[in-house]
Amino acid sequence: MKKLISGKGATLALIVSSLAIIALVACIGSAGPQGPSGQSGPQGTAAIDGSDGSTGSDGTTGNISSSGSANPLVSDADSFPVDTTKFDLSSLVAINEEDCTLSNGDSSNCYQITVTGFPSDRDELGPFCPETITTGAESAGKWFDNGVLYVLTGDFVANLDNFYNDNHWQLFDQDTGKVNITKTQAAFEAAARPDVDPEYNNFCVAGDISWYSDVQGEGVEVTYLIPAKPVSRSSAGSIGRSVGIALNGVGLDGAAPTQAILSAYTIAAFDDCVGHINPVAGYHYHGANHGEDDCPAIAHEGDGHSGAFAYALDGYVIHTMLNINGEEETDLDNCRGHVDTIRGYHYHAAGPGENAFISCFTGEIAQGFGGQQGPPPGGQGGNPPPRPQDGGPDLAKAASILGVTENTLRNALGARPPDLTAAAKRLGITEQVLRKALGLDQ
Ligand SMILES: [Zn+2]
Ligand SMILES: [Zn+2]
Repeated sequence: MKKLISGKGATLALIVSSLAIIALVACIGSAGPQGPSGQSGPQGTAAIDGSDGSTGSDGTTGNISSSGSANPLVSDADSFPVDTTKFDLSSLVAINEEDCTLSNGDSSNCYQITVTGFPSDRDELGPFCPETITTGAESAGKWFDNGVLYVLTGDFVANLDNFYNDNHWQLFDQDTGKVNITKTQAAFEAAARPDVDPEYNNFCVAGDISWYSDVQGEGVEVTYLIPAKPVSRSSAGSIGRSVGIALNGVGLDGAAPTQAILSAYTIAAFDDCVGHINPVAGYHYHGANHGEDDCPAIAHEGDGHSGAFAYALDGYVIHTMLNINGEEETDLDNCRGHVDTIRGYHYHAAGPGENAFISCFTGEIAQGFGGQQGPPPGGQGGNPPPRPQDGGPDLAKAASILGVTENTLRNALGARPPDLTAAAKRLGITEQVLRKALGLDQ
C-alpha cells in the first residue's frame, strides 16, 4: 500500500462500510418501509434499502447488468485517471493507493480517500430550519420537492399544509409562531431515525455537527475507495446510498428518502448547499447548488466549461451543471455524462432540486469500498489503536465498524447493562449487526 498523503490521525475513520448499516440512516430522515422516494431511473434505490445487506458489499445496488470490456460505454482513451490533486488538500485526512476489486470482479488499483467531512470552502454549516414563521431567506435553509429547490423560509413552513395539500402539517406553534426544531442531540436522533419517534412528527429536523465531530469545526471523517483509473461499464450501473466525494471533503449521498421523511411530517432541512447532517455520515450533500445564495461558487474552466466539484465513485469527475453562459450541455448521456477532448468523460450535476447528482454510474465502482473494519493498523497519524475499556466491548472499534462516533454508540447503548435491542433500534440497525460490531457474536 502506497501512502500518498497522510494528515492527522484518523481517530475516527468513519468507514463507508460494507455493512450497509449506514443505509438505514443514510439520510437524515425517517426511512419508512416503503423505501426512498420513488424516483425514476436507476437511483431511488438509495438510502434505506439494503438493511439486510443484500445490496452488496459496496453499499450500492451495483450491477444492474453484467459489464465487460466488450462494449464499453466510454472508451479507455476517454477514461482519464483520477487526479488526486484536484481535492482541496485541507479536506483530506489521507489518501492511500491500494489493490481493490471492482464491481465486475476485476482486480484493479484504487485510491482510498479519507475526507474530513467538513466543507473546506466554508466556515460553518447551515442555516437549516427557520426559527419562526417570519424568518426570512437569509436565515433559512432549503427544502426540495419534485425537482425544485425551495427556500425554507418561515413563510414556507407556515404554508406546508397548502403546499402538500394535507392539513396535518403543523410545524410551528400557532400562538408564538416558533418553528418546532430538533434542538438537542436526543431530539435530532429520535426524529432522524428510520422510525421517527411520533413525538417528533411535525418537526423541522436539523442536527449540529459538533454532536458528531471529535474536533471543533470539523466534520465526521468518511473513507471512500474509488478506482484510480475509471473502467467503463458496458451498461449503466445504478446508484446506491453514495454517489461520490466532493473536492471540498463532503460526501455526495444518494437520493434522500423524501417520501419517508414527509410521511412523518418532518422536513429534513438542507442548507444553501443542499447539505444536511445525519447521525451517521455527518454532513453530506443531496444536490449541487454552487454559486447560489450562501453556497460557494465553483469557477468555470478556462474555456467556459463548468468547473469540477466532485469525483463520482466510479472515478469520473462531476462538474457543475451549467457552462459560463448558463447553458446545460446538450449531449449528455443517460447518466448525465459526456466526452470532450480536454476532460475526457465526465458528468454534469443535475439541478439543485433533483435529489440527485447523476443518474447512474458509467464506470465500475470498487467492491466493498471502505469495507475495512476499523481504523488502519497503527492508525495513520501515529495514534495507538483504541483499547477496550475494562474488558468490555471495544466501543471505539465497534463505532468505527458501524460508522458512528463513539459518543453516538455510547449514547445509544445507554446505561449498563445496555439494552441491545433498544440500542440497535436507536442506531437504526439490526441487533445482529450491533452484536457483531461489539464482538459479541462471530
Ligand atoms: Zn441526507
Ligand atoms: Zn462537460
